[in-house]
Amino acid sequence: MQGAATLLEEVFGFDAFRPGQEEIVTAVAGGQNVLAIMPTGGGKSLCFQLPALMRDGVTVVISPLIALMRDQVRGLREAGVSAGALTSGNTPEETDAVWEALERGELKLLYIAPERLAAGSALNMLRRIGVSLIAVDEAHCVSQWGHDFRPDYLRIGELRRALNVPLAAFTATADQETRDEIVTRLFDGEPPASFLHGFDRPNIHLAFEAKNAPRKQILGFAEARRGQSGIVYCGSRAKTEAIAAALREEGHNAAHYHGAMDPDARRHVEHRFNTEDGLIVVATVAFGMGVDKPDIRWVAHADLPKSIESYYQEIGRAGRDGAPAETMTLFGPEDVRLRRSQIDEGLAPPERQMADHGRLNALLGLAEALECRRKTLLGYFGEDCAECGNCDLCDSPAETFDGTTPVRMALSAMLRTGESFGSGHLIDILLGANTDKIRQRGHDGLPTYGVGREYDKRQWQAIFRQMMGHDLCRPDPERHGALRMTPAAHPILRGEAEITLRRDSIKAAPSRPTVKA
Ligand code: ADP
Repeated sequence: MQGAATLLEEVFGFDAFRPGQEEIVTAVAGGQNVLAIMPTGGGKSLCFQLPALMRDGVTVVISPLIALMRDQVRGLREAGVSAGALTSGNTPEETDAVWEALERGELKLLYIAPERLAAGSALNMLRRIGVSLIAVDEAHCVSQWGHDFRPDYLRIGELRRALNVPLAAFTATADQETRDEIVTRLFDGEPPASFLHGFDRPNIHLAFEAKNAPRKQILGFAEARRGQSGIVYCGSRAKTEAIAAALREEGHNAAHYHGAMDPDARRHVEHRFNTEDGLIVVATVAFGMGVDKPDIRWVAHADLPKSIESYYQEIGRAGRDGAPAETMTLFGPEDVRLRRSQIDEGLAPPERQMADHGRLNALLGLAEALECRRKTLLGYFGEDCAECGNCDLCDSPAETFDGTTPVRMALSAMLRTGESFGSGHLIDILLGANTDKIRQRGHDGLPTYGVGREYDKRQWQAIFRQMMGHDLCRPDPERHGALRMTPAAHPILRGEAEITLRRDSIKAAPSRPTVKA
């Protein structure tokens, strides 16, 4: 059986589980009956698709919407998974092909429309093909009180009894009546393993800071928490070693950890971390799986995580004991440039690259959020939350200003120079700097030359970073990171849209972050 984490990455192309997914995948793959309640968009399908690959035989998926089934089958096939659907929308050829694949024992996932279960032949067929798991999407359709009631869903209980295999039911509807009815009708009243927890980890304080002097910022953060167990995540192996050494120089108990270390050395650090009090581990994302320490008091990111999912998973290692824990994530334009080029230069197919850019945008949106971070974070995972009172933006609300004019200036400088330069040169143009590069290329004759003197260099850097955060421009990896506009910038440039920027991140960050009492 291949590991869930490997399949997650290799088949689905995701770098981390979303909240709740890992526990559900483990239970379903382990053959338990499961009822999982997750918000829409939370990532339910992965919770049965991934276990289907981990188990022998066929997983039957019952889903009420033909369009959705077809979408999922298409997606799975593109990822190289053998999947098929039997629905009334099939052509006879499609149906034949699904049957043949089943007979040959090739299919891993078979999607079936519930009305198919009404025909007695379906049960005989399913008996023959070696079903190992039944997954029921939109399980609330079994509830007669709900507005989505589907009489054919009532047959699923029968099917489970006849096949005698585990069943995993998924829904976004969480009210108690519906849940009770699902348990009665699908599980004959035997309580399944149930997963219904909010994704919120209210004891974890969330904060982001613009990366100005990263080493100093990390050292400052650790200093204010001296003696507490913490993790510093870094984007490179070399950096883990350098920061761990710097922390030791300041008298902290610190060790580094990365994937190139030999297994014994890694186990040694894991053991120390789990057993010693107050050790700081400076690590790449390789550190995490072997860590089971409930009282990690803080997690700092010296570099921006890969995606919003990775961010959630990594900060989620803090404060498992429920006591207050703190996090701080540094981010800067270099992080954005690096991640974008990793995605663009990767071997993933174009749709996946687009999705990866989207997930990075979500994280940047969180980094540049104007209101409560938790609201933004949980909103991304489909969960509502009030202002949390436990993030940097609730502590001191972001001061904002109308950034339309400077953003338009910057976009115009970008366009007039053929989208061929990075932010450094564009800022020189906006500030009217007298550099060789500007003189040689005649950029001192541009209408945008010197129009941005109202802001200084650091402020312009913050504006460019926020522009990248809003995905108004992206560095082009084939042209040394030259900034190119995205379509999202067009309405601003045309004067049809305005943009609000944060002023606080334009100000210089304090060299020592203030600590909450
Ligand atoms: P729902 O819970 O509404 O059925 P889906 O299963 O359709 O949600 O998933 C919603 C979106 O989340 C999809 O675009 C899917 O690709 C994405 N997704 C699911 N799991 C992950 C993950 N671990 N990392 C990143 N994206 C994910």
